[in-house]
Amino acid sequence: MASIIPLLTEFEKQSISERQPLPEKYLGLSDAEMEVRIAAARRALGSRLVILGHHYQRDEVIRFADYTGDSFRLARQIASRPEADYIVFCGVHFMAESADVLCAPHQKVILPDLAAGCSMADMAAPEQLETCWEELAQMGLAPRESSGTSAVVPVTYINSAASIKAFVGERGGTVCTSSNAAATLRWAFERGERILFLPDQHLGRNTAYKMGIPLDQMVVWDPDEICGGLDPDQVRAAKMILWKGHCSVHTRFTARQIEGVRQQHPGVRVIVHPEVPWDVVQAADDSGSTEYIIKTVSNSPEGSVWAVGTEVHLVNRLAQQLAPGRTVLSLDQFGCLCSTMFRVSPNHLLWILEELLESRVHNQVTVSADQKHWNRVALDRMLSIT
Ligand code: SF4
Repeated sequence: MASIIPLLTEFEKQSISERQPLPEKYLGLSDAEMEVRIAAARRALGSRLVILGHHYQRDEVIRFADYTGDSFRLARQIASRPEADYIVFCGVHFMAESADVLCAPHQKVILPDLAAGCSMADMAAPEQLETCWEELAQMGLAPRESSGTSAVVPVTYINSAASIKAFVGERGGTVCTSSNAAATLRWAFERGERILFLPDQHLGRNTAYKMGIPLDQMVVWDPDEICGGLDPDQVRAAKMILWKGHCSVHTRFTARQIEGVRQQHPGVRVIVHPEVPWDVVQAADDSGSTEYIIKTVSNSPEGSVWAVGTEVHLVNRLAQQLAPGRTVLSLDQFGCLCSTMFRVSPNHLLWILEELLESRVHNQVTVSADQKHWNRVALDRMLSIT
């Protein structure tokens, strides 16, 4: 099946154009030249280098990755390469931060384009979370009571800044991924009466609903409003306090698209990522993390037809390599692109690698020692749950 070339929105065009500037000599190179030079630099760096590539990364970059996967799977690969001095993370900023938390002291984590951020992670700032925590305490929802159970347990999605993970770790909470979100919520409910879930309201709502928590026991906390824009009684009655954040890619999928694809392709199965809105999960046949989507589609009977609601590069890869004998379509016919992930270009990768050959390290991502400690606490709790 041919690749779906995403039709870019104005936001995406602007977002891609904001990438980190490169030295002149790295501009205007042909694909063929970059391919040869990246391969040569990689060979020369040998075991001192490991390249990690996220599933949503473009083909011209991911083909050079030693490991591919979702953000957590990639971060875990670091332990398997202790001899590497340089970890080049072809993903977005929060992923590089997690890698720096989990790597050995001598290892340097590098993000080829420092402008590759995540719109969802940017929706939760540490000052906003501090304010939220104080306002919850004013509502009588004391973070931790002497009995050991908490009125509120904070849980953050791995797609958040290190500062947010540190805050959560320090206050008895944990981190989750889209693969282990349900287990993490169960863990948190054993320790407290309600959960503050951030930054993605959709993952929080979809996971909690699947576990049997009704929608009327969930409220959305708007960090731009006083007390989240909520009445204290509403918050006290809630089991889930959902931070008002979302992924700009996955919220583009709609239930209407599912209706359309079912009409066009009778018998099609629809699978979506749990960062999509609740009504889209309800209209789909299945939902799960990127790893779950890959496994489900590639293990389905040959001849199956799938419409997939996630980032377009993964959908294209499923269609072309990962699920032979199955027909894979993007649920959005124009393809949903993560425009910040797309900022990591082969030009950036080449620049980083050739500079490393000269022992010049650019774009190192570091997390402060204090934040690292609390990030590890939060991540270790997550690992113990998994
Ligand atoms: S797909 Fe969404 S959550 Fe993932 S990196 Fe891109 S903006 Fe962030």
